[in-house]
Amino acid sequence: MFGVRAGGAFDGERVVPGGALVLVDRGRIVGVEPGAAPAPDGCEVLEAPTGTVLPGLIDAHVHLCADGTDGSLDRIEEPGEDAMAAVIGQSLRRHLAAGVTTVRDLGDRRFAVLAWRSSAHDGGVYPAVVTAGPPITSAGGHCANMGGEAAGEDQLRRAVLERAERGVDVVKVMVSGGFATAGTQVLFCQFILQELRVVVGGAHAAGLPVTAHAHGLPAVHMAMAVGVDGIEHCSFLTDKGVSQSADDLARLADAGTAVCPTLGFAGVPPLTPAAAALLDKLGMTFEQVMEMRKRQVGQMHAAGVRVVSGSDGGIAAAKPHGLLPVSVAFLVEGGVSTVAALASATSLAAAACGLGDRKGRLRAGYDADLLVVDGDPVADIGALARPAAVFAGGRRPARAA
Ligand SMILES: [Zn+2]
Repeated sequence: MFGVRAGGAFDGERVVPGGALVLVDRGRIVGVEPGAAPAPDGCEVLEAPTGTVLPGLIDAHVHLCADGTDGSLDRIEEPGEDAMAAVIGQSLRRHLAAGVTTVRDLGDRRFAVLAWRSSAHDGGVYPAVVTAGPPITSAGGHCANMGGEAAGEDQLRRAVLERAERGVDVVKVMVSGGFATAGTQVLFCQFILQELRVVVGGAHAAGLPVTAHAHGLPAVHMAMAVGVDGIEHCSFLTDKGVSQSADDLARLADAGTAVCPTLGFAGVPPLTPAAAALLDKLGMTFEQVMEMRKRQVGQMHAAGVRVVSGSDGGIAAAKPHGLLPVSVAFLVEGGVSTVAALASATSLAAAACGLGDRKGRLRAGYDADLLVVDGDPVADIGALARPAAVFAGGRRPARAA
């Protein structure tokens, strides 16, 4: 057994006054004691009097097969199996170094992430991986080069069944086009309503949740109409800007749909032609759109929508693996309280990943996924980007990524 004691603590939902002594045994949290509690006899304790202990972060939207360089989604078909496994391992080490102990991969190249997870890899310490397999998309649609094209109800039905049989945790479907895939349309739908019903019906019958990639307003509406469990980006975009009505937000809040807005950039990415064209149409700069997105997500949260944090990490140099603390900070800049923003990256993200009963909280019986940061992220969210110690399943990585 060992302990982690910090002067501050956030338990996944709220601040624990006076900090906490978290006791860990065989990969599990076995006790969460007051910060001033004595450690059991012989129990080694990591002391962080000026730090804060919280559950390891959960990034609900990553692309482990993408290496965090510009154009990496365009090149995703290139690496062989061994090279791809190496990329996945490196991506995961970067997340862990940033305090992320669970990721949900929503853009597998064929089933490389699934294969990595079921392989022995190197016995090292890695974040837990939840995975969708390749996103289901239309012929030539958004991220079609990941291997998830399906046209018509029969192929869509089979695509869902294949994923269920292989053992994915969630089905990802590209309802609109995406900025990263040339020739696709972010403002339009890639499927018709009945096709999407087949995907959601098939997945739910197999016990799998569905999360939908949706930028344009019609795609968000279609995803809502078929009862998806989650919506990625959820941009409510039109060619005149964001069209996010109070009525739509109330419906999302009532349905309990998990919205992962994938906020956060480390710098300005090179704009794809689709992104540049849209900025042109809107008459806005990239920075102005980012400010608009922060405010938009702040309004979603204020309306009671279940916002979960995810980074889209890996798809570009400005979207590196390990970006999640920045995504959380963007939420705060959009008007979300620090406590709610931290919950979006811990307990709420755990629930969205189907892991709410064992991850995302400091609670006895939960996995010992712990992050100690330098300072107090409740007072200053920037502290979240200063990891001092990270444990995944009670183990610390041997070296930094
Ligand atoms: Zn993505």
